[in-house]
Amino acid sequence: MTGTPTRVLVLNSGSSSVKYQLLDMSDGSRLAQGLVERIGEETSRLAHTPLRAGGSAPRERTGPITDHAAALKAVAEELAADGLGLDSPELAAIGHRVVHGGLRFTEPTVIDEEVIAEIERLVPVAPLHNPANLLGIRTARAMRPDLPQVAVFDTAFHTTMPESAARYAIDVETADAHRIRRYGFHGTSHAYVSRATAKLLGKEPEEVNVIVLHLGNGASASAVRGGRCVDTSMGLTPLEGLVMGTRSGDIDPAVTFHLKRVAGMDADEIDVLLNKKSGLVGLCGDNDMREIRRRVDEGDERAALAFDIYVHRLKKYIGAYYAVLGRVDAVVFTAGVGENAAPVREAAIAGLEELGLAVDAGLNAVRSGEPRIVSPEYARVAVAVVPTDEELEIARQTFALTGEIAGGDGGRGPDGNAAGEVTRTTNA
Ligand code: ADP
Repeated sequence: MTGTPTRVLVLNSGSSSVKYQLLDMSDGSRLAQGLVERIGEETSRLAHTPLRAGGSAPRERTGPITDHAAALKAVAEELAADGLGLDSPELAAIGHRVVHGGLRFTEPTVIDEEVIAEIERLVPVAPLHNPANLLGIRTARAMRPDLPQVAVFDTAFHTTMPESAARYAIDVETADAHRIRRYGFHGTSHAYVSRATAKLLGKEPEEVNVIVLHLGNGASASAVRGGRCVDTSMGLTPLEGLVMGTRSGDIDPAVTFHLKRVAGMDADEIDVLLNKKSGLVGLCGDNDMREIRRRVDEGDERAALAFDIYVHRLKKYIGAYYAVLGRVDAVVFTAGVGENAAPVREAAIAGLEELGLAVDAGLNAVRSGEPRIVSPEYARVAVAVVPTDEELEIARQTFALTGEIAGGDGGRGPDGNAAGEVTRTTNA
């Protein structure tokens, strides 16, 4: 054994998939990553990528992987083949992404039976995600019952929202009886990116107000005042807010009764329509922004309208959160679309000069994996692009807690940095 263990395995378990990364928190570097998909089907696949310098080539397994236990066993075998097995004394902890932590989990939490029971109690508000996350947790605990395992919740960063932002204007008793309120998601990303933006501006998180636009296939905005979330666009579920790849985002709730009464659709059909067949894909048949931009450039009108609706909603949230915050230091774009789609950034900020917002066309066109400012020098408010890194943030929070359990250095790296500041060495 080589001193204090510093490796953290991050697991993101879906209903039929497990994504994983193994990180070394002494420097934030990635040792391996991979994905098991189509668990429970004949055509399961495990793609494993060792990431250490001089390590072996990426590998793939195909063939049935019956359940999450089999999936994790296969992952453990792949890691072991590179000398990174789950039985290694250098493994400090396992960090689990858990989508819904309700009101109870405001911080990353060491998992025990009571925590598992509480995550289970939240299944009614996260029926797709929490059961899958629990499968991963139970399997990993069975494999390494001795190891600290930590749940990092997508909702936790948003628990600082004031009641005025978190409550829907519906009957209070009904809302409370069914735990109906705005929880928000993507919190790990919003936390990481808002802090990295403060660093980019040369400030402490407490000193800055930031609007974070996490634009992936799912998309959400948040208003962060002095490092604390004060509003976010997703609600009880990830359906609310921005136009997304396949979700409608904000919609008059009466559309749902209308679909039931007039189109004869039931709740499940409406759920599928709004979550899977709406947003960009519903508007133009594509949910990939690259394809949409290609079509727009070729003069495709449906794609152009989808793009305009997407950007219009984004602009509305920028304006709304500007008003919520009063003073804004930066508007920051992140995730697949936010990091890569310069036309989205340009169009969302266009016309907001009176708010001190502008994009420099040259800077905006630069492709880079680094955090960067794309607004001109004269702009009062910075427009930034900051690549998100949810796995590093989960590993950081997990490791920090593990350090506390062991009475260690609180997960601070060798240079005393909180690990959110750890240099990124490998792109996910
Ligand atoms: P998620 O984690 O929500 O699945 P990501 O953050 O990986 O999503 O974002 C995926 C989306 O990013 C894709 O659907 C695509 O629309 C967009 N995207 C990725 N690369 C580019 C690019 N080069 N240009 C424009 N959009 C891109």
